[in-house]
Amino acid sequence: MTYTLTQLDEQAAAPIAPADELAGIFDLVPSETARSDAEAAALMENMGFGSKFSDYMAHATWTKEQGWHDKRIEPYGMMSLDPAGSVLHYGQEIFEGLKAYRHEDGSVWTFRPTYNAARLNYSGSRLAMPELPFEDFMASIVGLVRADERYVPTGEGTSLYLRPFIYASEAFLGVRSAHRFEYLVIASPSGAYFANGFQPINLWVEREYHRAGPGGMGDAKTGGNYASSLLPKVIAHDKGYDECLFLDAATNTNLDELGGMNVFVVMADGSVKTPRLTGNILPGGTRSSILQLLDSQGVQTSEETIAYEELVEGIKRGDVAEMFACGTAAVVTSIGSLTSDDGRVELEMGEVTKRVYKDLTDIQLGRAEDKFNWLYRVA
Ligand SMILES: *Cc1c(COP(=O)(O)O)cnc(C)c1O
Repeated sequence: MTYTLTQLDEQAAAPIAPADELAGIFDLVPSETARSDAEAAALMENMGFGSKFSDYMAHATWTKEQGWHDKRIEPYGMMSLDPAGSVLHYGQEIFEGLKAYRHEDGSVWTFRPTYNAARLNYSGSRLAMPELPFEDFMASIVGLVRADERYVPTGEGTSLYLRPFIYASEAFLGVRSAHRFEYLVIASPSGAYFANGFQPINLWVEREYHRAGPGGMGDAKTGGNYASSLLPKVIAHDKGYDECLFLDAATNTNLDELGGMNVFVVMADGSVKTPRLTGNILPGGTRSSILQLLDSQGVQTSEETIAYEELVEGIKRGDVAEMFACGTAAVVTSIGSLTSDDGRVELEMGEVTKRVYKDLTDIQLGRAEDKFNWLYRVA
């Protein structure tokens, strides 16, 4: 079966003006406290993941009266928020994650940024939040990356990780959608996601807790889903596992995804499957890209209901060859074992997982032809 483009894929195909035309939409407020060249260079020598931030951030405000306004690239710094700010009480918040990559010729690119723009608005619609026009999303990315270009690293597995998010900032304790929101993008220069390279992860198959349920927010990228995944993750960590594999909340039998990554199963016959999007699963851009890539290579792919018990039988029989998880941060990571209350099964890291990782990162880094038109030049 070939992958059918989702609404997000279709929205992501919208034409976007070149970066030079978007660059001035967010006004630059010069920073007085930007790092010196030596300080910035020292930071780039020791990036880590997600713990160090660039000099600037993009920021815009939405009010009922004015819509989106005050669009700025301003110095990175503390935000002030009224203690009654509704995000603190009711969690009205959504976010995105994407990366800026430096190509060998020094140019800087993002991968499917309009997919993130479309998904931000999908998440916003689920949480009753205002839409952010694609042009503003793209202009914030362009403006921020250009202001912080020296933080886009060079080197295998490195990138400038970009975190756009919107939160309710109205000071109001009544329960309704807020009348004021802040949109921000912060940037974090990032080394390889897994410090020890391409090592398989061990998953705990979680039967007691779910990250999302039918009619909930599972397909929206919102902090609430992460909040519900933290306790099971702590418990799994304490038992020695890297992540939880969540099952569907309705039947507790079928694979959903990890706390922040989608999951794939590679069969011994070379076909590849992933759980179908049920509304409880986050529609990953990496997931969509992998399905499209594999289709274009003639690999048989399918999106289907994957029962955990059948998966385990398949692994034991040898019908399942590999499993991997995927998402923007890690791209692709091999799954080495699954453990549940009924025992443990192990998997090999195989060729398909490695090839998917290579094919995708080759496109992102400009080393392979971008035949899907996924790259957008920022600087
Ligand atoms: C962000 C996210 C993913 C991966 O999405 P990508 O677009 O591939 O980065 C998967 N699952 C959850 C729960 C997520 O929040």
